Amino acid sequence: MTTRRAFVAGGLCGCAMHGAAQAERIRPAAMQALVAPGYRPVDADERGMWHSVARLEEELASSNLRLDAPQMQRYVEGVIVRLLGERARETRVYIVHDPDFNAAMFPNGMMIVQTGLLARIRDEAQLAAVLGHECGHYLRRHSLQRWRDYRRKTGIMAFVGAGTRIVAGVSLSVGVDPRGWIDIANSINTALVCSIRQFSRESEREADAFGVRLIEQAGYPPDAAAEVWRHYVEERRASARARDKRYRDKARSATSTHPPTAERMLDLTASARELEAASAPPRLYDDGRDAWRAVVAPLRAGLLDEQIKLNDPGASLYLVNALAQDGWDGTLRYCEGEAYRLRDEPGDAARAGWAYAQAVTLDDAPPEAWRANGYALLNAGDADRGRQSLARYLARKPDATDAAMVRFALAQ
Ligand SMILES: [Zn+2]
Repeated sequence: MTTRRAFVAGGLCGCAMHGAAQAERIRPAAMQALVAPGYRPVDADERGMWHSVARLEEELASSNLRLDAPQMQRYVEGVIVRLLGERARETRVYIVHDPDFNAAMFPNGMMIVQTGLLARIRDEAQLAAVLGHECGHYLRRHSLQRWRDYRRKTGIMAFVGAGTRIVAGVSLSVGVDPRGWIDIANSINTALVCSIRQFSRESEREADAFGVRLIEQAGYPPDAAAEVWRHYVEERRASARARDKRYRDKARSATSTHPPTAERMLDLTASARELEAASAPPRLYDDGRDAWRAVVAPLRAGLLDEQIKLNDPGASLYLVNALAQDGWDGTLRYCEGEAYRLRDEPGDAARAGWAYAQAVTLDDAPPEAWRANGYALLNAGDADRGRQSLARYLARKPDATDAAMVRFALAQ
């Protein structure tokens, strides 16, 4: 069975990153849209593909997997408008709860942004870099190319039928079953293998070149695209180290369809330099860090909580520390403590206790920080301060689902 992890195993952009022999960099200036504004599918194949995607979109639109955050929704849509201008009207974006670092673009303009992406993004420019890459796939009609290629190889019309059947199955589970997203992911995997995953290396390189051009035109620093990849690779390295494994770039394998990540980062950096040099007079770019921090602040505790629960402490600690470069706050310290608590190696209980104690002295500590601090103090034998901290938790969150349990602990 395909799991949620497998769905996004490639990381960033449902299509992930892939490529073998060094290919020549595609120049951003060479990228032109292949889809005219208002494009509708013409032939039967493509109409069938759109139909399946449309049904999937209906399920997604009404599912409880969507992040309930109207301000963030408007913000992401605003970035797409900045990138695509008028053509943004052809797209719809759905932010879904999924802790993996990923986004995907479908042939009909449906875009999926996963909460794991929002958890990791440091500024608006980085968000724009990922969205720009996905828009590049859309404007170059990569999913249609991929679909035609797939059909030529298989010579069967399995796609549309499979899509309809699976999507029909999804409607039974979405909304009631927490595994709903996995079913959606499965249906995407199975029915749309041609559309978002396994784009060819050439398509990925085109989307990179197009994306970096879109962000530069929109006034974002074009370096943001390479930065996103740098953070991604560093996080995967940290994750592998914590599991005593060596980081392997999956995109380096001969069968991979994506260019190796190192090559991608070099190409993106070279493209950024080229675009900067071509703009005369030199532009003043804005990475939109303050705007991004303001919109993500109320969501950050929830976003990080999804990541921490994956119990990938190497990645979680990397992420918390990377975000803390902009300054520690109560949420980040609390999450640091949670990552140590779940890792549970010798010394981690003390590390977690220290982090919780710090968290409750800082701004924006979630109520749970007081609870964690309370239990850590009780475990360390500091009953008085432990009780005080638990009482603070109850005061801040009197209707917490575990309030009765905490009251019981206090009564002991
Ligand atoms: Zn891609």
